[in-house]
Amino acid sequence: MKKMLGMKLPGNSTVEAGFYDIPVPGNGQVLLKMKAASLCGSDLKYIYHEHTDKTGGARYDNVIAGHEPSGQVVDVGEGVLDLKVGDRVVVYHIQGCGYCDECRKGFFINCQQAERRAYGWQRDGALAEYMVADANTCIHLPDFLTYEDGAMIACGFGTAYQGLLRANVSGNDKVLVMGLGPVGQAVVMLAKALGAEVIGADISTERMEMAKKVGADHVIQSDEVLLEAIMELTEKKGVEVAIDCSGSSVGRHKCLEAARMWGNVVYLGEQGSVTFEPSPLLLHKNLTLHGSWVTSVGNMEKLVELLDRKKIHPGQIVTHRYPLSKTKEAFEIFATGKTGKVCIHHEMSES
Ligand SMILES: [Zn+2]
Ligand SMILES: [Zn+2]
Repeated sequence: MKKMLGMKLPGNSTVEAGFYDIPVPGNGQVLLKMKAASLCGSDLKYIYHEHTDKTGGARYDNVIAGHEPSGQVVDVGEGVLDLKVGDRVVVYHIQGCGYCDECRKGFFINCQQAERRAYGWQRDGALAEYMVADANTCIHLPDFLTYEDGAMIACGFGTAYQGLLRANVSGNDKVLVMGLGPVGQAVVMLAKALGAEVIGADISTERMEMAKKVGADHVIQSDEVLLEAIMELTEKKGVEVAIDCSGSSVGRHKCLEAARMWGNVVYLGEQGSVTFEPSPLLLHKNLTLHGSWVTSVGNMEKLVELLDRKKIHPGQIVTHRYPLSKTKEAFEIFATGKTGKVCIHHEMSES
């Protein structure tokens, strides 16, 4: 049987290259020739350095890693009606049981059943030459969008888009994006696409520069005078929507402070904690505070359509590209925390 190169993450900040059988698509599945797969902060937090989640959704079952897949259909299993050889797809990165309330809504991410499997966590993922994907997790990629764009959509842009949907962001809004890492950059781009005026804030001047490049109307250093600056930009009322992508207690607190009366605050940034006084910051301002996690298959499909219509390339936030054989180097540079998105291009030459 023909073998393929694939990458696993055994922990201790290492990448293990191996050769595996090229998988065969079963009923309802397709075989993808992988074209692009990006690395995610969650790969670092939960798998690369140490396998930190033993039982939850971020449990790593020693499979081929990579949960931001984009590729081309090269073989089709039985019972697949809407995909054919040659189709370009992005893969929604979780398969659920298919029957629970959340799966029926397309939020496979929230499936609580034992059958739930995420690519790159509990089933073989994107950091290999080929990957088997369930057809109902594949979304067609329009010609305008590159495979690299697809990889960005598979996790980060989907997450960003869902946060904006939760707060109903439109051209009526001034939106504060707190924390300008990859998800923050995605929120900036998509909030602009939806017509909002966008204020980006971060402590890093490099990230502020990047946000400016992808379309932020204003970027402000997140320090003691941040709130003053926001009030100045909003007739002293605050923003309609504040989205925390920092995951820090300071960032989360500032979002509540920066939101105006009846505003919406969305927490997208993971981990950490926050404490605040609900009366002045939430109740008396009549704020709505949303938690938001990833997105649904249907919303990801809508996002693909939006990006195509507005002619936006999510790949703009990629700063480092590597061939599959250099996945180890890709993780090493990504782990420095000083990059934008890092993307593996499976067919890139090694030089
Ligand atoms: Zn991810
Ligand atoms: Zn389910």
